[in-house]
Amino acid sequence: MNPIRAIRGMNDILPDEALRWREVEETAARLLASYGYGEVRLPLVEQTDLFRRSIGEVTDIVEKEMYSFEDRHGDSLSLRPEGTAGCVRAAIQQNLLASPCRLWYGGPMFRYERPQKGRQRQFHQIGAEAFGYAAPDIDAELIALSARLWRQLGIDDAVRLELNSIGAPEARARYREALVSYLAQHRDALDADSQRRLESNPLRILDSKDAGTQAVLDGAPALADYLDAEAAADFERLCSLLDAAGIAFVHNPRLVRGLDYYNKTVFEWVTGALGAQGTVCAGGRYDGLVAQLGGKATPGIGFAMGLERLVLLREALGVAPAVTAPDLYVVAVGDAAERVALAETERLRDALPTARIHRHAGGGSFKSQLKKADRSGAPLALVWGDDEVAAGEVVLKPLRGGEQRRLPLGELAAALAETMTQGH
Ligand code: ATP
Ligand code: MG
Repeated sequence: MNPIRAIRGMNDILPDEALRWREVEETAARLLASYGYGEVRLPLVEQTDLFRRSIGEVTDIVEKEMYSFEDRHGDSLSLRPEGTAGCVRAAIQQNLLASPCRLWYGGPMFRYERPQKGRQRQFHQIGAEAFGYAAPDIDAELIALSARLWRQLGIDDAVRLELNSIGAPEARARYREALVSYLAQHRDALDADSQRRLESNPLRILDSKDAGTQAVLDGAPALADYLDAEAAADFERLCSLLDAAGIAFVHNPRLVRGLDYYNKTVFEWVTGALGAQGTVCAGGRYDGLVAQLGGKATPGIGFAMGLERLVLLREALGVAPAVTAPDLYVVAVGDAAERVALAETERLRDALPTARIHRHAGGGSFKSQLKKADRSGAPLALVWGDDEVAAGEVVLKPLRGGEQRRLPLGELAAALAETMTQGH
């Protein structure tokens, strides 16, 4: 029988890699808490309508990337393709919006995309959302938070901030008209995707990678010229706040983002070190979304980062943590030795709660156990055989040079504590 394989684009994360994930996740969780963001844990499955009404009917995500299905009751449900919609849904439902609040979430997201490096069908995000703050100081603080995270992760030199304002919905609608009437005159020079988007979602054409389309766009009307006064003023204020905080950014007038709910500020953190999948974090303001989903009108802003890409970037830059070897490998040969070794190792774990102790399991000769001890990378082994058990002693054996010695059991914890602090 053929073994069953994982679903394409849904990856297993194995121990060495999981260690690197954990470091990114723990660093982000600590930092978010330090800025006053409270964690929320949200369902992986929501009503399909939630995503239709927030992300937008004619976006790539809703049109072709969602995992949607009918449950046994006939309701249309979807695996969440992103976290903001669910977070807003929860904030409304749980009455979190009476006063400003800052929330963060993390976990798997699902999109039916073509899997490649840095692009999976199950991928993972950590996101932050701030509700009830209308002024751009929160935009600047959120961006500062993300910039600090890149420093803590050691990737700050490899990412750049791209920033834009897409204005109020009315301003965007006026711009959309101007853009469509211009692009329609150059229809034949556009790539097929962009031609299709001309009717459905013309702003998305701005981030087309196609060279022909890019050339047409060079002569297109600029979004910045259509911004409403408030958005323009807020954008100027945001830029000056970032300047004051020493956060470098590039104004990218073609940055529009692929989700319908954004207004005013949009931003992306981009790296050149991961090929085509260069955006490691993206976000923006969504002042209309809470009301659109049935809540009391409340401004919002947030971002989400892609953990796969952050882990890949740290690996590419060589800043990922090395896999740590155990501090101690415990070897025991014979029934009596195994019994003593198991009990004594448990006692050692009481005395040295942070020590990484790998007790050999499954028996075998001294030779084979010591070979495994050596391969584990541990600097030290503890060895029990019949002789040691009879004498109430144990052998402490350095594995990277040095003399072995025999110790009474009563002295073991203290001797180990001393050797291990020397080693560190
Ligand atoms: P892209 O342009 O790369 O498709 P996006 O605009 O669709 O990204 P968002 O919805 O803004 O992405 O999600 C925020 C972040 O989540 C992205 O910047 C990226 O780091 C990550 N991300 C999005 N889709 C995937 C995916 N399929 N696989 C891995 N990471 C992803
Ligand atoms: Mg995408």
